[in-house]
Order: sequence, then C-alpha cells, then structure tokens
Amino acid sequence: MNQKSINKFKLFSNCIPVKGSRRSLICDVQRGEMKLIPNGLYEILSDYNGKTYDEIIEDYGEDNKPTIDEYFEFLEENEFIFWTPDPENFPDINPEWDYPGSITNAIIDSNENSTHDYAVIFQQLSDLGCKAVQLRFYNTCSLEQIEAILKTAENTRIQHIDFFIKYNDTLNKEAVQKFCTDNLIIQFMCIHSATTNDDKVEIENYSTRVLYTTEAVADHTHCGIIASEYFVVNIPSFLEAKQYNSCLNRKISVDINGDIRNCPSLPKTYGNITTTSLHSALVQKDFKDLWEINKDQIEICKDCEFRFVCTDCRAFLKEPNDKFSKPGKCTYDPYTATWADNANIDAT
Ligand code: SF4
Ligand code: SF4
Repeated sequence: MNQKSINKFKLFSNCIPVKGSRRSLICDVQRGEMKLIPNGLYEILSDYNGKTYDEIIEDYGEDNKPTIDEYFEFLEENEFIFWTPDPENFPDINPEWDYPGSITNAIIDSNENSTHDYAVIFQQLSDLGCKAVQLRFYNTCSLEQIEAILKTAENTRIQHIDFFIKYNDTLNKEAVQKFCTDNLIIQFMCIHSATTNDDKVEIENYSTRVLYTTEAVADHTHCGIIASEYFVVNIPSFLEAKQYNSCLNRKISVDINGDIRNCPSLPKTYGNITTTSLHSALVQKDFKDLWEINKDQIEICKDCEFRFVCTDCRAFLKEPNDKFSKPGKCTYDPYTATWADNANIDAT
C-alpha cells in the first residue's frame, strides 16, 4: 500500500517554512539551502504538518489533487518531508537562541589617522566572549602590519578575524594567498580599491574567502548593503534573527577615532576606547536597545520571506527617523517579489 495513505507527512525539523506577502521560503537550516515556494504550499505545511495526504485532499477537494500531488513531489524530491505513523516523535527545533558571552562580534574601523591599541581592544573583546572581529582599513597597509595585529589576538577567545584593506602592490594574489593559508584565523579578506575584480582566489584551507574588488571602501557609509549574496542560512543565525536584530545583536564597534558605538555608522557614542572600557560602554543605558529589533517588527521586512536569512541595517534606513523602518539600501519588494536592481537574484 502507498505509504501516503497510511502515514502522516512531517517536515524535517531543520526545514523551516517562512511566509512572505507574495510567496514563501523553505529554509533548510542544516544543509544551508533555501527554496521559494507558493503561499498555497506554505499553508499546507503550516496547517497540515503531521496529518495524512487523504486529510488534505478531503479538505481541499479532488479538483486540487493535481496541484497537491505536484507539491508533494517537490517536497519529497528536495527531502523536505518524510512519512511516519508517529509525527509526535519528531519535535520542532528548540527556537531559543543564546550565546555564552556578552558579545559575539565586533567591527574595528581604521584609517591613516587611527591609533588603536589592538592588543587592548582584542583582550577586552575576548573578556566579553567575542568570537568574530571585522577589521576595516580605509587606508592601505602591509601584510607585515596585519601580521603584527594578528599576533596581538593570540591567546584570546577570538576565533575569526576578517579584513577589508585598501589595495597596494604588495597585496598581490600570491602573497595574500600564502598569508591566508598561514593565518587560519582569517575567514574573509576583501582587498578593495583593487585594479581588477576577482572573487575566485584559491586558498588552500578552503574555509577562507579572498575577494578583490575595484570598488573603493572609503569609509563606514559603504556598509548596510542588503543583497541575496549576503543571505545566511544556518541554524544559529536563523534562530538569532527570529528573536534579535540580525546585524546589531551582541555587536560592539570602535570607529576610526576610537569612539565606541553599536556600529561605526550609528550616531550614538558610548565613550572613547582610550578612556572607556568596552565593558563599561556595554552596560550603559540604551546600548542594547537596537539588539531587540527583529525583522518581525520592521515595516515591510515583516512581510518578506527572506526576513530570517537576510542581514539587517539600523543605520541606513528608508525612513531615517523611524527605527522600525526597512533598511534603506534594500531594493527588494516583498509585495511584488522583485528586486529593483538587477544585481540580485533569488538565490534559490
Ligand atoms: S547597522 Fe548597518 S551600517 Fe551598521 S554594521 Fe549593520 S549593516 Fe553596517
Ligand atoms: S525587505 Fe529587504 S531587508 Fe527586509 S527582509 Fe526582505 S530582503 Fe531583507
């Protein structure tokens, strides 16, 4: 007998449907994949998960059988569902997100006038539990200078350091390839203001990505771009985005002048790193206010199927005086399911 008629269908718990205004998305947070689906299929997945095929046909009627069959073919082909007599034995993923530290990530900006003491900053970040740091150099520097900075992060809890650096001749591909292979703490290096674009620089350890771009990253205003290529599909970031802000939660930053901020592009400062510790900035009233703004609270984003895989931006807003406004640099319209620029595709 066909297992459909005796068993109930169940979505794998790592395959989470997200409803959008015009269409929906299934996020496979374990395999890091996503697929767009019609809202009709989203309704079946949310209303009938754990029920039999016959119950669905009974409610939808024989006329809709071909569409429902097509849906189930798609779900089985993509391994989003399985059939079982005991769906109650397969609970959903625990939706809670937490991290054993006050800070998970940080941005440190520098230009030719910056005088940061990286050893002090890294030690303070480490004490706060920070695991990922992005160093954005608007000026250029040598691999020797970068190596000296990396040395100051040794014996800390920092696990990854990403770089944005302005191109100079010594940052040629061979030298950078070797440098990244020797320094596994680097996960991403963007060489901006380069003479050519190249996003396929081979690195032996495979987990590092090096990108050369002719674009100039001249200051913090370059940040805040929302694009499908930046979407992230994995369990921790999906669960974090459901509860908290997908850019600013547990983030702290030091700008080019040493001022401590939520991010270098936000106006409010919480003291200067030369006189204020990161910890005392963090405990100041309102430092964490933006951490709590998740995509379900943001206008337009709350109707977008990409809302839990998309990064957010609270610095550059569509309506600058409304902290619940959509990111100003996002061109996606969830009501028409289109990107206004051609740079983005649906990535599914
Ligand atoms: S809030 Fe916007 S500008 Fe600030 S770090 Fe996030 S994306 Fe960048
Ligand atoms: S509307 Fe744009 S910023 Fe908002 S969730 Fe969708 S893609 Fe992200």
